Parts: sequence; structure tokens; C-alpha cells
Amino acid sequence: MNVEENLAHIRNRIDSVCRKVGRDPSDVKIIAVTKYVSVNRALEAINAGVSHLGENREEGLQAKVQEIGNAAQWHFIGSLQTRKVKNIIDKVTYIHSLDRISLAKELNKRLDRPLKCFIQVNVSGEDSKHGCKPESVLSFIHELKEYEHIQIVGLMTMAPNTENEQVIRDCFRQLKQLQNSVQTLRLNYAPCEELSMGMSNDYHIAIEEGATFIRIGTSLVGNESGGV
Ligand SMILES: *Cc1c(COP(=O)(O)O)cnc(C)c1O
Repeated sequence: MNVEENLAHIRNRIDSVCRKVGRDPSDVKIIAVTKYVSVNRALEAINAGVSHLGENREEGLQAKVQEIGNAAQWHFIGSLQTRKVKNIIDKVTYIHSLDRISLAKELNKRLDRPLKCFIQVNVSGEDSKHGCKPESVLSFIHELKEYEHIQIVGLMTMAPNTENEQVIRDCFRQLKQLQNSVQTLRLNYAPCEELSMGMSNDYHIAIEEGATFIRIGTSLVGNESGGV
């Protein structure tokens, strides 16, 4: 299937899930995750009407930005080493993986503009996953006050690797509850209006639980190893 057909299918599914739970489909934005695929495939996504692209590594981001530039808004969705900040900072509109003060400090030092950041939360508690512990999110956000260029636009998580839909749903629901707690603080640097959650296999659940950005790779642009 080409990207256009995949996108039409995903948009239909977004519409039907939104109808089911009474949400407005325009509140769910699609990030095409292009980490597995070529620049040309990423361009197909742009031509099909996607405006957000996500990459999880510096090299992939550089290669795509070089060709595609500001035809897309760029999301850095992978874990970010502090020493790589300087190489990506001018290219991204969003970072989805802010999870520690040392990273906030380095970002802030290199920035001369506000940067939209998601705090990555390890809701599932799996050792393999990055992210702040759920119980540390509020204190982490308080600490971020010092870093004037860091804007907390939302929270991000990755669901656990399981077939159990209830476990996945609980994870997304906990992120939503945390978002509510952050919003109660009414901090001007942390409006926290967005939730980045849901990938190819679980975006339908994420939307039911309040996702505003879904990050879709395999089922939208495919992956080089097999495609879709
Ligand atoms: C790769 C990746 C995705 C997309 O995964 P698919 O299952 O291919 O849709 C989403 N989010 C993050 C953080 C990723 O690394």
C-alpha cells in the first residue's frame, strides 16, 4: 500500500474512534515516524498531507531535514543524549523525551527561543524504557521553572509490550491522569495540553484515552524490512 492509502485508512480509523468517544478528530495529530524509511518515503508522507515527522536518532533527523527542511515540523521522539543536543536543537520543533534535569539544562543553554517539550514518563515501569517515574513528574516540572526556554506542552509515554489491551489502556489512562494533575498547577511554562501516546498497534486505544499526538511508523510509511 502506498502512504496515501495508509493515511486514508488511519484517518478513517481516527474518525470512527473519535465518534465513538465523542472527540473531535482534528484534535488528534499524526506524526509520521520515518526512522525506518528513506527520505523519499518520508516525502510521500508530506505529499499525502502529513505535516509532522518524527525521528528517534540524530543521524536520521539530519538526513531527512537536509532534504525536507521546513516542509514538516520535526519531532525528536527518541531518547536524547546530552552531548547530542547541540546537533539537533536547531532542527526540531518538539522534543518528546525530556526526562531529566541534566537534559533540560543543556537544552536551555543551547536555546535562544522557546522549545516545545514533552516529558517522557515511564508509566509501565519496564526497565527497558526511558522516562521519568510517574511519581516524580510533578517535582520534575517544578524544577523546570528555572529553564526559561523549556515549555512543557505535554506528556509522552510508550505502552508496554503486551497483547493485553487493558494493560495498555491503563498505561494511557495513567498518563491522562498525570496530565490533569499538571494542569491543576496552572504553571505558565507548563500548559501541558498535549498527550503523545499511541503507535501503529495501539493508537486506537490511545485516542480513546485522550491522545492528541499519535506517533505512527509501520502502518503509515512502513518499515524498510518488510513494508506494509
Ligand atoms: C518507532 C517509534 C514509534 C513508531 O512505531 P510503530 O510501531 O512503527 O508505529 C513511535 N514512537 C517512538 C518513540 C518510536 O521510537
